[in-house]
Amino acid sequence: MAEQAKAQIGVTGLAVMGRNLARNLARNGFRVAVHNRNWERTRSLIAEHGDEGTFVAAESMADFVAALERPRAVIVMVKAGAPTDAVIDELATLLEPGDIVVDCGNAHFADTQRREAALREHGLHFVGTGVSGGEEGALHGPSIMPGGSAESYQKLGPIFEKIAAQVDGVPCCRHIGPGGAGHFVKMVHNGIEYADMQLIAEAYDLLRAGLGAEPAELAEIFREWNRGELESFLIEITGDVLAHADAATGRPFVDVVRDQAEQKGTGRWTVQSALDLGIPITGIAEATFARSLSGHADQREAARRAFPGGGAQLKVEDRDAFVEDVRRALLASKIVAYAQGFDHISAGSREYDWNIDLGGTATIWRGGCIIRARFLDRIREAYDEQPDLPTLLVAPYFAEAVSAGVPGWRRIVAEAARAGVPVPAFASSLAYFDALRAERLPAALIQGLRDNFGAHTYHRVDRAGTFHTLWAGDRSEVEA
Ligand code: NDP
Repeated sequence: MAEQAKAQIGVTGLAVMGRNLARNLARNGFRVAVHNRNWERTRSLIAEHGDEGTFVAAESMADFVAALERPRAVIVMVKAGAPTDAVIDELATLLEPGDIVVDCGNAHFADTQRREAALREHGLHFVGTGVSGGEEGALHGPSIMPGGSAESYQKLGPIFEKIAAQVDGVPCCRHIGPGGAGHFVKMVHNGIEYADMQLIAEAYDLLRAGLGAEPAELAEIFREWNRGELESFLIEITGDVLAHADAATGRPFVDVVRDQAEQKGTGRWTVQSALDLGIPITGIAEATFARSLSGHADQREAARRAFPGGGAQLKVEDRDAFVEDVRRALLASKIVAYAQGFDHISAGSREYDWNIDLGGTATIWRGGCIIRARFLDRIREAYDEQPDLPTLLVAPYFAEAVSAGVPGWRRIVAEAARAGVPVPAFASSLAYFDALRAERLPAALIQGLRDNFGAHTYHRVDRAGTFHTLWAGDRSEVEA
């Protein structure tokens, strides 16, 4: 095949994500080689969408690789885990130094680091790339978070930036950093998504308990919120889901869905990584545990029987004021979740030497992805103004929104606790905020206890040095 007729990029793995990504590439004028382990998927892609652009269909991996111009760029879009390793191993035997393997699956960033190092040995670039937006995003413009070498981005950047979602003329794609940086950022994105969804769910639960309103009426409140500071994809679809009635029974859709939230694991990865890095992402952790708790049906059943009387009504005297309190509590808690998520990215960037641009990351989440939201612009502005911001919470816009929300946030959390409505993410976000701004934390007592039982030593507020009190002796203090 003449070099100019060869494909500019290839996609292997043509299930829903790979198929749509390949179509997006073709629709944007790129010549795309396509391959799938099982030929039927390739055949049906060409039969159903072959007229959307230039596809080069290959039956074998060798033909697929031969169809690509050099340096070759191959997107792997297969099931995460062992299948990804199997495909990468096969590709590594066929590719040549300088070629690029792009894993757009949902890989753990540590796997990406491992794969990147292994392929580098063969002179190949390995680009772990986070892709958010589900199947619709893959087709119409996702948010794309590529890691890997700067050199590989020279080839991939123009392609990815063209097929990504565009907001205000800016593509929702940028080079995140080397190694596993792209998949790390995608992981934290998903963690924030967990927190966002849990907070929305708690707000819904509070509104329902407080107003005694039907879901369809509550949908209107979310639609109204979506016209203000909370404007986001998730708030928008909350309105849709709450307004939806079950066709079979006529009941509100949310009332016929079993109340056990599932997860594919990226929330868990985020929390595990944050524990390793020592970053308190309490909102994301609460959201992840809340999903786990919801799934423990047997324990919930046993507890319901042992402690009857759940489902209490909230006391609401002024309907509008209550709705506004919930809105402000939701916004403040959401700001906490994002502040924690960005702390996590910042810590990962330091730990692994990725040099991630935090404001730039906020920019590429403005479109295409699940957490796309109006206030991501504010995050970018905050980091533009102060790149070494200690926490997003203190950036002027967020500090103001949180301060304005605090009285309502406290009323909501207190009233929920009084009535027995579980609001783990609202409550823990408020506790995080209060802990962060406290003059003194009881951590001093913990240090005292640690020194008492384990001679773990402590620092004093009034002079430098490390100290230990002789607790079992005369209780005098010695310098350790
Ligand atoms: P799946 O995760 O369902 O994977 C199916 C694809 O993997 C098929 O093409 C299948 O080939 C291929 N495959 C499975 N095992 C092997 C193997 N051992 N060797 C070669 N190929 C194999 O597809 P999705 O499209 O849902 O997702 C693809 C990737 O994108 C996953 O990593 C997923 O986590 C990620 N992702 C998915 C999103 C979504 O919304 N679905 C969003 C963002 C990322 P065959 O047809 O021959 O069985």
